[in-house]
Amino acid sequence: MRRRTFVSLLGASALGLLGARYWPDEGFVNPCPDGELPRELAGHELMQRIWQDLDAAQLWDSHVHVVGAGDSDSGIHLDPRMRSILHPAHNLRFRFYVNAACADPEAGIDATAWQGLSHLAAAFPPGARFLMLAFDAWHDENGRRDLARTAFYIPNDYVRLLAARQPARFGWIASVHPWREDAIEDLRAQARAGAVAVKWLPQIQNIDPASPRCDAFYAALAEMGMPLLVHAGHEYAVAGVTNQELGHPLRLRRPLEHGVRVIVAHCATEGHGPDLDRGPHGPQRSNFDYFARLMDEARFEDRLYGDISAVTQINRLGRSLQTLLEREDWHHRLVNGSDYPLPGVMPLFSMRALAAKNYLDEAAADFLRRLRQYNVLLFDFAHKRLLRYRGHRFAPRVFESGRILARRARV
Ligand SMILES: [Zn+2]
Repeated sequence: MRRRTFVSLLGASALGLLGARYWPDEGFVNPCPDGELPRELAGHELMQRIWQDLDAAQLWDSHVHVVGAGDSDSGIHLDPRMRSILHPAHNLRFRFYVNAACADPEAGIDATAWQGLSHLAAAFPPGARFLMLAFDAWHDENGRRDLARTAFYIPNDYVRLLAARQPARFGWIASVHPWREDAIEDLRAQARAGAVAVKWLPQIQNIDPASPRCDAFYAALAEMGMPLLVHAGHEYAVAGVTNQELGHPLRLRRPLEHGVRVIVAHCATEGHGPDLDRGPHGPQRSNFDYFARLMDEARFEDRLYGDISAVTQINRLGRSLQTLLEREDWHHRLVNGSDYPLPGVMPLFSMRALAAKNYLDEAAADFLRRLRQYNVLLFDFAHKRLLRYRGHRFAPRVFESGRILARRARV
């Protein structure tokens, strides 16, 4: 299939599935132009402003997904439904991710997704780094891997080798399922090989962070000073999640109490759940409220962090974003992440909506809309730099994530 055909198919199927409910003002399809930023954007006054008062050597993006389909020797495994038109919910998401990453199925998704990412990252100043995420498979209660229940598997080795191609620009975050028989051994091996942190997505990998079976893993993480980047809140990026309870933020008290530095992806800004502090059937509250509760527990001050990836998506523009901007006393504990390639999924972000809610002025919204057409990674960084709410902005240190991620006790 030619790329243009692929892209128009994406548009058509997206229209069919989403169009009736919501019409995105920035379209459905990432245009993925080749080449450099036009001069009027590169030299724009707002472009100067986004780099002001920042230490570029500390600009670490904590949350970069590796897009792939296993069409090279990467070892990537995808749920076959993602590539089957018989399963539109899976297939549509996959097409969005491939287009968001400007990957070309004909030329090889693994290879062209990496080319696309390194092209976008090259637009950042020297010193800025991007941490790519590995993703372990689904494992059962006995620690047995089950690829048939795995949405996607991105091997540690592949991500490590990608990062090694451009070590000044890229780093990597390992993913190790804690119930595997060799979990501790592998965790130590990943740390020795240079992994900056460990990533879990509990609902997709079948991990209960509150289980005592994680304790030995937590002890090893704490001993090495290695952070755990863990999704909390509901997860809709992958179709077919059945066990959203595993993403309950209060389940993260266990690693925190075991001395692990925990970075909560997206600051848990999605979904609701029972207040587990009042029992398994406690009243329903938003997951963000539970994140806030943990952030305000003084004993977790040096341990608990939030990653601001995805918090500006169109479905999350309410109280959570206002609170994150207003709570300047939290800013030294927030780290920037892009959740790449999601900034390239066009319907997920709307500059019109951000301007309508007064997070951006019209000039900034216009600049960002045009920037997004050329570089979704730079767009993601720029729009969070320009965001404001009642005079509050994300402090520069939110973007200087290296101060938190580069800190490891010993290996
Ligand atoms: Zn993510």
